[in-house]
Parts: sequence; structure tokens; C-alpha cells
Amino acid sequence: MALKNAIGAEAKRLGFKLVGVTKPDPPPHLDIYENWIDQARHGEMGYLSTDRARTRRANPSLIMPECNSILVLGMEHTLPESFQEMLDLEISGGQFPTGKIASYAWGPDYHEVIPERLEQLIAFIHDQVGEPVPYRTYTDTGPILERELAQRAGLGWIGKNTCLINPLRGSFFLLAELFLGIELEADPPFAPDRCGSCTRCIEACPTGCILSDRTIDASQCISYLTIELKGPIPEDLRPKIGNWIFGCDICQLVCPWNLRFATANQDRELAGELNQARQQLLDELSLSNKDFNHKFKGTPLKRAKRRGYLRNVAVALGNSRPAAGIQPLVHSLLNEAEPLIRGHVAWALGQYAETVTKKSLVKAAGVERDPYVLKEIEAALSG
Ligand code: SF4
Ligand code: SF4
Repeated sequence: MALKNAIGAEAKRLGFKLVGVTKPDPPPHLDIYENWIDQARHGEMGYLSTDRARTRRANPSLIMPECNSILVLGMEHTLPESFQEMLDLEISGGQFPTGKIASYAWGPDYHEVIPERLEQLIAFIHDQVGEPVPYRTYTDTGPILERELAQRAGLGWIGKNTCLINPLRGSFFLLAELFLGIELEADPPFAPDRCGSCTRCIEACPTGCILSDRTIDASQCISYLTIELKGPIPEDLRPKIGNWIFGCDICQLVCPWNLRFATANQDRELAGELNQARQQLLDELSLSNKDFNHKFKGTPLKRAKRRGYLRNVAVALGNSRPAAGIQPLVHSLLNEAEPLIRGHVAWALGQYAETVTKKSLVKAAGVERDPYVLKEIEAALSG
């Protein structure tokens, strides 16, 4: 117990506000995950459905046979000083030509920050035990059911929005796990379901993708569509994306547990400069490859790559339709090198009622050679 307490205190010193221990037992709710995969709710994220991923999720011991304990950790990610401020931004966000970015991505990439802290924690554990301890670390990086492990380690319950919700801190957390080859006493699982009769997240989700078994149809979720999906965004879903250009926070923003308990992040390294909450859509549409790489170096936005990011920007412009957006969109349709972006720009222009956009689409149809973009232009003209 003394070792566990010492590890817990060190983890908290390193910025992990949530700390719990569980055992590498098979997950009791594996059938829900298996069903989710069988129904292809994971969209194009094929790495989730490989045999290797499935068997390892079914039995965490396969990942590391000498594992005796799993330390589950939670680090709060970026939030503005006031949660109300964040909610106000969300409510007002649709009225301006700005694009919204999910709060976890406002600062540096957590994959760059958390692993280093985990290594510091491991060094501490080695020191306490007096010899090297077998271990493996995870930060959203491997085939494990992170939220289920967190629930089993007593950190909170899995809400209807599928997030891990801590009763004293809400859900704006990043989870990490340390598989350890030492015996630590397991914490009791967090048993109650504190969602009760609340359905706010289900009602607020713009695409209606929150399912009744506490899973999400990822193929319809804005986070998936704007980050993981590499090709065209299905046309029927584009209007539902609003002005989110990287991820979506809605089902967490409306959750009463966050309204009551979420607090501003005090971790300077993870918070960064908080400069990514909102982006001017017209500026973003003109980002070159070099600009994009420079601007988002070391941040989660690199994951979408320029082509995915500007695709999202085009969709947000089509949804907000600022008058000042027509000329830049037309310029992009005629000059952008990436067909995926030109295709979504064509769609965006088709959302305007102005005659000038129709004329530009007709002009572009005359010079466009890419079959996919031509299809988008035709659809925009016939819409
Ligand atoms: S992230 Fe957005 S789209 Fe996805 S489930 Fe939550 S509210 Fe719905
Ligand atoms: S909004 Fe309500 S139902 Fe959804 S996760 Fe939060 S408490 Fe649960």
C-alpha cells in the first residue's frame, strides 16, 4: 500500500489529476465493443477491427503477460479560464466566419507531452522498487479499452456520450495507462451510473450518432469526419458539421457534470498558448503546405494534414456562407492543387444562393479535369 500511495502522489505531482489501479482482467463489456465493430460503426478506422486488435482488447494480459497491475491516469486538457466562456463561444460560434477546434487540440499534441511524464513516473517506480520493473505505456496508442479500464480503476463512469466522467472533475480528460509487472492493490470500480435520466448529449449531437448502448456511430461523428476520415465527407453530413473544423466538443459541453465541475487546465506545457480555439476561415483557406506545417507543428491538427483540414474549412465556409467568402472560394476552386479540397470548395459555393457563385461553378466545370471534382461541381450546380 505504501508503494501504491507513493506512486499515486508522484503521478499527481506530474500532473495526472486522476489516478487509479486495476488488474489486467478481460473486460466485462467486451460484447458491446465487438458488436460495435461487427456493425462497422468504426468507419474507415480499420486498425480497430484487426484480429490482433480484437484479441488484445479481449485480454489485456496478451499485451504484456507479466503485467500484474494497470495504473490508469487522467490528465485534464486545455480549457479556457471560464467554462462559461467556452460555452458562450460555442453558442456564438455559428454567427461568425470562424472555425472551431475541439478543446483537446488547442495546445501541443498530448502524444508529445504525456509519454515524457510517464517515463518520469516509471523512473520513480524503478527507484522505489529498487530494480527495473517490466512496463508498457499507452496514451491512446494501442489496442486497449481505455475508458473501461478507467471505470474499473474507479476513476468515473462511462457516460451516455461515451466519455469517462469523473464525478468531481467532469470529462475533459486525456487518459494514459501504465502496465506494470508489480503487484498493486486494485481500486474498487466506479459502479454508479450518474447519467440517470439525463439525455442532453444525445439531444445536442448534431448528427444523432450517440447510440443507446453507450457507443457512438463513429462514421457519423463530427470528430471522425473532420479528423480520421481521409476522403470526401458524405454530402448529407456536411450541413450538420456547422463550423467545426477539427473535432467536436458538443456532447461534452452540454454535459451537466462539466458545467458544474470542469476547471481550467493548470498544466502549462499541455495548455500551450491556447491560440487554436478559433481560426479565421478565410485565412485558413489560403494556407499553403508550408504555412500549414509551420502553423500546426507539434499540435494534434497535423493529423488531419492540410488536405483534410482545408476540406473541413471549405465545409465550414459552406455552412456559414460569409459574403466575403465567395471570392476566396472561387479562387481556390480554380487554383487549388488538391482535388479533395476543390471538391468541397465546389460544394461550399453551391450553398450560396448568389448568381455569381453559379457562374463560377460553370466556369470551373469548363476547365476541371478531375472526375471527382467534376461530380462535386455538377452536384453543386444542380442543388
Ligand atoms: S463529438 Fe459531436 S458529433 Fe460526435 S458524438 Fe459528440 S456531439 Fe455528436
Ligand atoms: S449529458 Fe447527461 S446523459 Fe450525456 S453524458 Fe452527460 S450526464 Fe450523461
